[in-house]
Amino acid sequence: MAPDLDLLLRFVDGRNHHQGASHSVGAALIAGAAVMLLARAMGWARPPALGLVSAGAWGSHLLLDYLSVDTHPPIGIPLLWPFARGYFHFPWPIFLDIGRTLDWHTVRHDAVALAWETALVLPILLASWWLRRPPED
Ligand SMILES: [Zn+2]
Repeated sequence: MAPDLDLLLRFVDGRNHHQGASHSVGAALIAGAAVMLLARAMGWARPPALGLVSAGAWGSHLLLDYLSVDTHPPIGIPLLWPFARGYFHFPWPIFLDIGRTLDWHTVRHDAVALAWETALVLPILLASWWLRRPPED
């Protein structure tokens, strides 16, 4: 969820920041490097692995946003920043867009979007959990 912290900037200047640099591969790499350095400074086990997992978690947010309907210009996310300019979006979105107001219509729409995302992602989560279980004797 960390990439969406940019939504808080709306309270500062009233503009939409959701499609900013936090939604890019560059930000995922920075997050992974920051976690690796923090893990190393704190003496935690396997700092490179923690950094890699953190970058992957950040990247999973990018994938989900990339696969979603986007109705707030600029359409898409700056996925390849700083390596390439432009906004990228999947031509056949899988997930619904998320409203950013608190009126009843938007809340109902967001509840449907949440249910749809859960229906699609929950089986993957359960399969991952099942595959991770230690073998029974
Ligand atoms: Zn996002």
